[in-house]
Amino acid sequence: MVFALFRRWRLRRILAQPFPDAWRDILSQRFEHYERLAPDDRKRLERDVQIFIADKNWEGCAGFEITDEVKVIIAANACLLLLGHDHDGFANVRSVLVYPRPFRVPEFPSMEDGLYIVDEDVDLVGEAHERGPVILSWNEVQRAGHGGRNVVLHEFAHKLDMADGFVDGTPPLAGGSQVRQWAAVMTDEFNMLRDSARRGRATLLDDYGAQDEAEFFAVATECFFERSQAMQRRHAALYDVLKAYFNQDPASR
Ligand SMILES: [Zn+2]
Repeated sequence: MVFALFRRWRLRRILAQPFPDAWRDILSQRFEHYERLAPDDRKRLERDVQIFIADKNWEGCAGFEITDEVKVIIAANACLLLLGHDHDGFANVRSVLVYPRPFRVPEFPSMEDGLYIVDEDVDLVGEAHERGPVILSWNEVQRAGHGGRNVVLHEFAHKLDMADGFVDGTPPLAGGSQVRQWAAVMTDEFNMLRDSARRGRATLLDDYGAQDEAEFFAVATECFFERSQAMQRRHAALYDVLKAYFNQDPASR
């Protein structure tokens, strides 16, 4: 209770500060979604970015220096996901860790013949821990938009998915008809992507999403924001389900 009051007081103090002009310049020049937003949405995004930046612990790893540009770009991408919602600003993310380049982690051990096998280390460009930080490679963050990919949207979509305690590709929904529509469309589209991936057919959606339902939601989220018009044309039902969930219509911007 005391902590909740303290947090509210802190957030009010943060919002009492004007949004820095230098940050606005970064948004205009380096975050292409910003210019397409309606004025009200821009204001709202700025407010969310301000809170997000003050609210998280930022850690540069492997000698990486966290600058204002790093914070503003990552915060803006994360907060874009929340623009249509009343939200807690990703309260389930305390820390954002940033590496300069892809980072090496040990492969999660798998069980074989009663023994744990660790195959090889893998290089990652992003990772979202269920009860921990979001980890990003800055080099990949800067490539946002290329080929419809966006690692920040991807990892924070995982965090939305995790908000109900399950990593299953379904974030908390409004209930009733939204749940039924979600289940039908997502299952259909996921199976289609799996089929295409098996046959080696290229699709609008990155076939990384064929791994499991959680990756499918993260990949579909990237595509929804970064290739919104193509998704609306080629995966209309998927676009509509995500439009209802995010309460945003990026294709119309
Ligand atoms: Zn993922």
